[in-house]
Amino acid sequence: MALRNVLTEENSALYKKSRAVVKFDERLHVLLDDMAETLMHANGVGLAAPQVGVLRRAVLVMETNVPEGEDPYIIELINPEIISAEGEQCGSEGCLSVPDQYGLVRRPRKVTVRAQDRFGKPFEVTGEGLTARCFCHELDHLEGILFTALAERMLTEEEIESGEY
Ligand code: ZN
Repeated sequence: MALRNVLTEENSALYKKSRAVVKFDERLHVLLDDMAETLMHANGVGLAAPQVGVLRRAVLVMETNVPEGEDPYIIELINPEIISAEGEQCGSEGCLSVPDQYGLVRRPRKVTVRAQDRFGKPFEVTGEGLTARCFCHELDHLEGILFTALAERMLTEEEIESGEY
């Protein structure tokens, strides 16, 4: 595994639409493993392939809603689509490609995604709260959309520091 360079918001690749993954091969597996290492190194909760310069529909989302004493784990989503969404949440959101900036973004409270795993096998997964937010945020990356374009407003430094907004 190797760390990949995370592109930041001035890079035009982040605004492009990603293409479907068609080959579930070793190259995809290396990409996913590298993305996982990069995500954990950056202490993030999600990462999309275009953020490491690969315009393919593959994302990682950290499932943090786990029973006490268990570790969060990474969900790999290849060619993901949202098949249902319910409720609403509005909260602070950030992105490894937009370092040190946070904004208030409205998202569904609960989201179900249909995707393929790294071997091409279809599955469905439901996430709530932060995980639902993360599904939406990472899938937006595949459309070339950054959260800064959706934020109702960006948080000030004081708000970020105090956690009050
Ligand atoms: Zn992001």
